[in-house]
Amino acid sequence: MVNYKDLGLVNTREMFAKAINGGYAIPAFNFNNMEQLQAIVKAAAETKSPVILQVSSGARKYANQTLLRYMAEGAVQYAKELGWENPQIVLHLDHGNSFELCKSCVDFGFSSVMIDGSALPYEENIALTKQVVEYAHQFDVTVEAELGVLAGVEDEVSAEESHYTKPEEVIDFSTRTGCDSLAISIGTSHGAYKFKPEQCTKDPVTGRLVPPPLAFDVLDAIMEKLPGFPIVLHGSSSVPQEYVDIINAHGGNLPNAVGIPEEQLRKAAKSAVCKINIDSDSRLAMTAAIRLTFDEHPEYFDPRKYLGPARDEMEKLYKHKIVEVLGSDNKA
Ligand SMILES: [Zn+2]
Repeated sequence: MVNYKDLGLVNTREMFAKAINGGYAIPAFNFNNMEQLQAIVKAAAETKSPVILQVSSGARKYANQTLLRYMAEGAVQYAKELGWENPQIVLHLDHGNSFELCKSCVDFGFSSVMIDGSALPYEENIALTKQVVEYAHQFDVTVEAELGVLAGVEDEVSAEESHYTKPEEVIDFSTRTGCDSLAISIGTSHGAYKFKPEQCTKDPVTGRLVPPPLAFDVLDAIMEKLPGFPIVLHGSSSVPQEYVDIINAHGGNLPNAVGIPEEQLRKAAKSAVCKINIDSDSRLAMTAAIRLTFDEHPEYFDPRKYLGPARDEMEKLYKHKIVEVLGSDNKA
């Protein structure tokens, strides 16, 4: 049993309260490897932004759970070395699907866990979430729950269709479970293919797909029921078209990849939305940089020669999100 406080990590409670009052959102970036982690920590340290390091169960399988835990511990030390005196770093389990997985993360030094019971019937979601909350709160670990279903594919999470969160359920759900934050469904979606072309309109000038807008009326109704309660948006990558273009121009094939416009995320960040999850955008930045490097330098075979530029591109992306989209810079 390791407590996150001994690793220098923090939970989300105070961070979210400040974000709601300050009208900004905390970035939650997923990581699977060293280069991603370096880029996230460097971007957060240099912009003085609180940050949530997210680990999915797929990442735990890919990178090994023990190694990931020490990487997070290393991330705190690395942040200090970069001159960030009091790093505000959360280690968070993304989409925990069982009590056992959440418990194992709490015991392993995570400062926050998500229990995703959104695919279960309502009462079962409540029972499972409550069980995780009761365990996690003993160790001051915060818990994110989910109500409503997001479409799209993310690691082992996938759903054909989205179901918006029902505002009439949120008071009952948050009261009975005791969760610290709530992931809702208002039209965001997992992955790089958030919408089918037939769900989109076309920009007459560029010919690009324009996704349907987020359901801000549902968000408003939820905020009215739960004033000041931390709301989380999953599936909030913007799928920057410049990366998609680079990938497609250098041997890739990502037709019709489309995300959530940054303008809409900016609007959400000013509300009670205090955590915005971004994963696909960093995958795209990394892939674009690697494809470009390989195309320009077929002679390269030292991984540092292509993972280095990939890391630089991800850092640039994370800083852009922090400063231009979420507004969390200089808040830690
Ligand atoms: Zn998610």
